[in-house]
Amino acid sequence: MGDGTILIDVDGVSKSFGDLRAVDQVSFQVAEGQIFGIAGPNGSGKSTLFNIVTGIPFRPDSGKVRFAGREIQGLRGHEIAQAGLARTFQRETSFDSLSVFENALLGVTYGLGQRGAAARRDAVAEALAFTGFSDADFDLPAAALSVYQRKCLMLASALAMQPRMLLLDEPASSLTRPEIETTITLIRQIAARGVTILLIEHVLALLLTLSEHLLVLNQGQILAEGTPDEVVKNPLVIEAYLGR
Ligand code: ADP
Ligand code: MG
Repeated sequence: MGDGTILIDVDGVSKSFGDLRAVDQVSFQVAEGQIFGIAGPNGSGKSTLFNIVTGIPFRPDSGKVRFAGREIQGLRGHEIAQAGLARTFQRETSFDSLSVFENALLGVTYGLGQRGAAARRDAVAEALAFTGFSDADFDLPAAALSVYQRKCLMLASALAMQPRMLLLDEPASSLTRPEIETTITLIRQIAARGVTILLIEHVLALLLTLSEHLLVLNQGQILAEGTPDEVVKNPLVIEAYLGR
């Protein structure tokens, strides 16, 4: 666990698509070493928030993001990755014709631009093993993978960048219960290595189990914030989830 130092400071970020304010003046801070959760109904702006924080694929219209004391909101995606911020995507992204190993290596080239080739390959092999791939799996085409394995591959690609902070967009969606349990264990192990985690999740059980602090978005704005216990008792949260 960290010592309470703020690692990321998201300060009044907004992003509109035409007339739709997908993320509207959102501010929060995550301490180093924390597992910080973001909940919210479909379309509440969770993925857009990740997109603007990581610069992939776009930047915020306004607001600031300070990561490790440095303003990153104007940087490009690969520069943000190289600053120590890695992410996964809600939908599994992999190149079907490439092997498991080649897929993870692509991400690492993006995020560890300055490292040598041997160091990159080592980082990829270590991350793939950590997420459960055997050496024999490394040469499989990504097309042969199950949904769970694709999620593991995306996670391994992000981890191979050796990030200081990891943003996970719905890591449990479409998974079976045992797969969700394994995912929870993996996320705990990543946090135990000192990686700060920002987690979006629709599977509330996972979010409530893992998060030390929780933010709830609704229509692009912060609806509630606090410990999981505080947040689930908040009448505004109950209404947003059940009141329609
Ligand atoms: P969540 O991840 O919470 O389900 P999103 O951040 O994906 O929500 O979407 C928030 C809102 O912004 C939704 O209404 C969605 O349709 C819209 N939106 C997201 N990305 C785009 C885009 N690239 N272009 C237009 N509208 C978008
Ligand atoms: Mg989303």
